[in-house]
Amino acid sequence: MFQGSTIEISSEALQANLAFIGKVLGKAQLCSVVKGNAYGHGINVFTPMAAQLGVTRFAVYSASEAWQLHGRLPAGCELFIMGDVDGSALEWAVEQGISFSVFDNARLEHAIAAGRRTGKKALAHLEVETGMHRTGFEMEFFGEVLQRCKTDADAIEVAGICTHLAGAENRSNAERVLGQKVRFREALAMAGKTGSGPGMRHAACSAVSLNEPDMLYDMARIGILQYGFWPNRETQERYSEQHGMVEDPLRRVIRWWSRVMSVSTLPAGGFVGYGATFNAEAGTRIATIPMGYAYGYARSLSNAGPVLIRGQLAPVRGIVNMNCITVDVTGIEGVEKGDEAVLIGAQGERSISVASFGDLSDQLNYELLTRLPHDIPRVVVEKHI
Ligand SMILES: *Cc1c(COP(=O)(O)O)cnc(C)c1O
Repeated sequence: MFQGSTIEISSEALQANLAFIGKVLGKAQLCSVVKGNAYGHGINVFTPMAAQLGVTRFAVYSASEAWQLHGRLPAGCELFIMGDVDGSALEWAVEQGISFSVFDNARLEHAIAAGRRTGKKALAHLEVETGMHRTGFEMEFFGEVLQRCKTDADAIEVAGICTHLAGAENRSNAERVLGQKVRFREALAMAGKTGSGPGMRHAACSAVSLNEPDMLYDMARIGILQYGFWPNRETQERYSEQHGMVEDPLRRVIRWWSRVMSVSTLPAGGFVGYGATFNAEAGTRIATIPMGYAYGYARSLSNAGPVLIRGQLAPVRGIVNMNCITVDVTGIEGVEKGDEAVLIGAQGERSISVASFGDLSDQLNYELLTRLPHDIPRVVVEKHI
């Protein structure tokens, strides 16, 4: 059945990425970050696939994501909620043995109460504020927090002590990152003194794992890298240079494709689509693809694109519509209705990276991936063609 577009995720690509990540992490354990619908790859499809390849720890952002995964993973897999878990969701997490971050007193109290009521210890990762200024206990109160966990050890277990570093993907932030490192070490020393925890110590995301290996500790929370993307170009260049790497070890797990719905000819001087953003200088062959901004194909790709058809680049002409795009196939021999059109990933010798989807801002991969609509079918394939 034709469904507008399909997202294929490749187990072979993930396996290659996990092998590379294993080398980067050394003795530190991998915690696979599957928030944001597994960065658009489909949480319900990606996560079991990763578990099958041996990943046992997964981090989500919210309790609702943990809820989606709960019961779908093999026995022995652990879930960690990094952000949003409050109210009855917190009680549920405690009952299910799902760990979560604790970054303020309200949640600390709630966790202890829930642990006491359910008779199961709340598994808390104490988050320290080291410089991100998002969430986390301020250092000056952290001693009390540790002490409290010790006093109420029947109801709460310090499963981990963690922080999140801001800006480790750019050398220009070195000073801020260094300050964060120093504060995290202080927090760990405090835990040592109190005799509370530390459980798993973790501070590294993808960029930190690559750029600041002294921050790997016991576990790293890896998102973007496992999907086959570098956090940004600077990190890729720096790591490749330091390790004498010539080839990119990462493989894109995702491949997103649609099909040509119709082909037509635009006469010289004609306009395509709404407005007058593309005026053909000469006769132009236009292929229409049922893929628009309603399906995650950004409007910013208007008069840009491109997509791949018959192994060649076909640029978007005119603006991206709600439900379709028009692409230029003038130079591509024999394009016809039904031809595959690749939006992200490889076809033949060429490929479209998510980044080439627009200007190469650092956060672009993250944003475009996570905005891929949830209702596009995700299909597991062993290998991308
Ligand atoms: C998203 C997130 C990560 C993963 O970041 P990547 O750059 O994708 O590796 C790690 N830790 C926290 C707290 C996060 O929110």
